[in-house]
Amino acid sequence: MILIVDDNQSNLYSLKKLLESKNFQVDTASSGEEALGKTIKNNYALIILDVQMPGMDGFEVAETLADYSKTKEVPIIFLSAVNTEKKFITRGYASGGKDYVTKPVDPEILLLKVKTFYNLQEQNMAMRKTQQSLELEVKGRRESQVTMKSQIDHFQLMLESLPQIAFTLNEDGNIEFVNCKWHQYSDTDVDFPEVHPDDLNIREEFNRCHKKSQALELEARIKKVDSGEYRYHLLRITPVKEGNVIKKWVGTFTDIDDQKKVEKEKDEFLSIASHELKTPLTSIKAYVQLLDRKLKLDKQSAEAGFMSKAQDQIEKLNNLITDLLDVSKIENGKLKINKKPTSLEKIISNAVETIIQTHDENKVNIKWHGINPDILIPLDEVRIEQVLINFLTNAIKYSPQNNQIIVTTFVDEEKQEVKVSVTDFGIGIPDFKQHAVFHKFYRVEESSLQFQGMGIGLFICSEIIKQHHGTIGVSSKVEEGSTFYFTLPLN
Ligand code: ADP
Repeated sequence: MILIVDDNQSNLYSLKKLLESKNFQVDTASSGEEALGKTIKNNYALIILDVQMPGMDGFEVAETLADYSKTKEVPIIFLSAVNTEKKFITRGYASGGKDYVTKPVDPEILLLKVKTFYNLQEQNMAMRKTQQSLELEVKGRRESQVTMKSQIDHFQLMLESLPQIAFTLNEDGNIEFVNCKWHQYSDTDVDFPEVHPDDLNIREEFNRCHKKSQALELEARIKKVDSGEYRYHLLRITPVKEGNVIKKWVGTFTDIDDQKKVEKEKDEFLSIASHELKTPLTSIKAYVQLLDRKLKLDKQSAEAGFMSKAQDQIEKLNNLITDLLDVSKIENGKLKINKKPTSLEKIISNAVETIIQTHDENKVNIKWHGINPDILIPLDEVRIEQVLINFLTNAIKYSPQNNQIIVTTFVDEEKQEVKVSVTDFGIGIPDFKQHAVFHKFYRVEESSLQFQGMGIGLFICSEIIKQHHGTIGVSSKVEEGSTFYFTLPLN
């Protein structure tokens, strides 16, 4: 906006009209005092200032404007009829004015000067705005750098106080910070601790996860710098993201060596105990069978009932010990799988038949959906039947109110695999516990008291399926039921 200051109303009017005809926005003041008041309130791109006015003259107004930071940069064109001698012009310039136009005003000259000054001032104002916003941005960046630095310091202090070895890696996967515990296991700040030759190489494993932007979790023995002793650690490296971009990685090594030793001792005990129990039990089983045949008891008699109950219990004990032996075989890497091209349909029929024979008829109602895959698949017949029997036994055990079970088979031509699932309508499993049911000795607490078991059946199943290069899983809803499934590659 342009401000015109003149005590002569008709001059004011004609200048206003002239500038407005060229689309300038115009404001007017009829004295120097009024002009000062307006410049404080409004922003002007240019002031056209009459020199000779009663009260404050144009020079005084210009000098006052030059003293205020808000107005000192605003260009001024003096309007002067007289006083065009050199001394007078110098005063005008010294007081902050930029140019003169003499009266009577030549409209073309005035407009030319106004346009030039106006444009210059507009550009100045735009530049000042940009400068201000740049300054603000620089200030903001400086502030956020300071907060970030203090956040990093805080974070590193927290990592220092952890009982674990803790470290961070930058987005490229290079180690950038290690806490003091790190130095018990590594001489340098840039290399991972030395790993036992039989365990996985940490750098290689991490690079693999880094490429896929995935967290890493592994157990490995790392070497102590001073004693050379290897201790088992659980290593976890997790990406820290901003939006979808990984900014850094945070890692910890947790010492699990004592836990590992106790676990090993427990496994050894289980292995010895189950072996030692198996031999006398096999003899008991054989003698009871002999006795049963020799006595030729009347099927309706009480003795025959006792005999059959004793045999059932021996069978249960036998199954328990077999499972425990399987667990120790898995621990020692001795669970052998004998794959032969086999009909999956036959295995499913056998498993269903076994379940029907060993359970009360009213307790089971098994339906088989889906196409019967009549193709031959390379698998270990005994072990896959064991998985199915386990799924079916659990489906019955954990569905005390409902006897319906559905077995579904599905051949996925695209993925070249077959999927077998067993669905029940029983108690179900809470979401966050579902992945754990395949862990060794894990039982869902809510149901562990009500139902007997050791929590190893599904662990064995998952190992069997893993050895077949298949997948195993569950989907479930509490009080609605569960679907356990496994997949096997067709080739
Ligand atoms: P066990 O049945 O001997 O405890 P498993 O390894 O077969 O051991 O199962 C582990 C746990 O998973 C069980 O203790 C139970 O809590 C849960 N579970 C397994 N199958 C089912 C099912 N069909 N419905 C509900 N919970 C189940």
